[in-house]
Amino acid sequence: MSGKLALGIDIGGTNVKLALVNEAGEVIASESVPTEPERGAEAFCREVAATAKTMTAQAGIAWAEVIGVGVGMAAFLDVERGWIEESVNLHWRDVPLGEMLTRELGKPVRVDNDANVAALGEVWLGAGRNANTALCVTLGTGVGGGIVINGRIHRGVTNMAGEIGHIMVKNDGELCNCGHHGCLETLASATALSRHAEQAGLVGKEGRELTSKEIFEMAEAGNAKAKAVVDDMIHWLAVGLSIGANILNPDVIVIAGGVVNAGDALIEPLRKAFHQEALARVARACTIVPAKLGSQAGVLGAARLVLQEIETV
Ligand SMILES: [Zn+2]
Repeated sequence: MSGKLALGIDIGGTNVKLALVNEAGEVIASESVPTEPERGAEAFCREVAATAKTMTAQAGIAWAEVIGVGVGMAAFLDVERGWIEESVNLHWRDVPLGEMLTRELGKPVRVDNDANVAALGEVWLGAGRNANTALCVTLGTGVGGGIVINGRIHRGVTNMAGEIGHIMVKNDGELCNCGHHGCLETLASATALSRHAEQAGLVGKEGRELTSKEIFEMAEAGNAKAKAVVDDMIHWLAVGLSIGANILNPDVIVIAGGVVNAGDALIEPLRKAFHQEALARVARACTIVPAKLGSQAGVLGAARLVLQEIETV
């Protein structure tokens, strides 16, 4: 085995993904286990650590070869201390996750939020490869964002840089989870798309909410209501991206989340709308691309964080 090895951990609301990754970005071993956040952070760390060690041993690798552990999760956190201030979806508050995992694993641990590590993963091995300045935007339940400049996450002073979902784009728009009105998240998330389709009278079988994929398919098939909902979403997304791009002047904007399965039906009109909204010199220098790594972006980015930040002798 050549080169350094890192363990990436992606803690999602439902599952925890683990992957042993080398410097070439190759996954040597991987595992996925249920998150079960209700067992508490102590038990969580103990059991995830056991899984990590078993997985490593089964791959024929000595635990001593792993240089460190990177973790990505949706949370407000203090990156320096690896301290989770609050994770809304796991209902964890004030958890010294970095310290707990270091105790269990005997390795240095880096913790960052899921959008940041996913952005780092996409720039390392995915759609933003070799970008100078990348803005990565995930359209899911909310709208997440991460900024990577010269291969490194740009965090700002309280790790809030890249929160593009809470850029206010529409005056007097809908109330957002953050307490403000008209945030990009209320207009361009997958959740917002489904909600707006429902408000337009579009429902699936047995009255259930339509998924983004179904709404895009209906629009493609010529349904006028679905097309109006999709056009509106793309317009507001372009407005939000242009604000981010006018500030960052990125060479790449990576769009992630289930909505990118719509492919050209999303990306092509989005590029056009973006060119109308952003400054011409900004738009000309910037490519909008769909993410490539899917649900692997988080573990790969988390491993990358370790390979970048942890010095070995
Ligand atoms: Zn908001």
